[in-house]
Amino acid sequence: MSTTILALLLTMPFLLLGAVETAPNNPLVVILMGPPASGKGTQAVRLSKELNILHLSTGDLLRDNIKRQTDLGKKAKGYIDAGQLVPDELVLSILFDRMEQSDARKGVLLDGFPRTVAQAKALDKYFTNEKVVIINLKVPDEVIIRRSTGRLTCQACGAICNSYFSPPAKEGICDKCGGQLMQRTDDKLETVQNRLKVYYDQTQPVLEYYKDKVIQIDGNRAPDAVFQDLRHAVQ
Ligand code: AMP
Repeated sequence: MSTTILALLLTMPFLLLGAVETAPNNPLVVILMGPPASGKGTQAVRLSKELNILHLSTGDLLRDNIKRQTDLGKKAKGYIDAGQLVPDELVLSILFDRMEQSDARKGVLLDGFPRTVAQAKALDKYFTNEKVVIINLKVPDEVIIRRSTGRLTCQACGAICNSYFSPPAKEGICDKCGGQLMQRTDDKLETVQNRLKVYYDQTQPVLEYYKDKVIQIDGNRAPDAVFQDLRHAVQ
């Protein structure tokens, strides 16, 4: 075997590895904003699959830490249960840690972040040459309250239904797997009202910070109609 062929064979795995791991020059970042229960979570799952980018929900990251009883989870729990925002430094550390992992390099869809102007500024510093699309889902307060207080999550399979809009056939039982349906502690009426107040006080200013970069979408429609507008917005 000639030395050239041998050298080529030896470097081949590294060349292939490089091709897989190289991030695109301008990875796509979609920032999906909206009040609590505006449908962000559902749309984020679908849109990130369609775009083949990582879905990052700070709410999910925090709940995962609470479940695993990490130090960060213990610190965050009280704020979440009370419908308050978790302090910026905790959320920033959890999110930026996750964004350093290789699966985030091709692009991310941020769901529930940023929620304060300080978080938005930190994000601006973090990104360099990404293509950023900012979308806000608009939903009236009264719809948000019914969506949140009616939301039930299956403890076994994670399926979500709503006691007002899509009630289960048998009360408290998941239609999909027969598991037990539970209300999230932060979906109780008083907490939802508090979350809405927090949203208007702290997250609405983020929309003002981004100003005309924000693409507004009416989120008070059937999920498919909202999704078509989202697809259009990121194209
Ligand atoms: P979510 O699942 O996005 O509705 O988030 C649930 C809860 O997690 C919120 O009510 C906050 O207490 C907390 N949380 C999620 N994302 C953030 C964030 N970016 N900043 C501060 N707190 C957050």
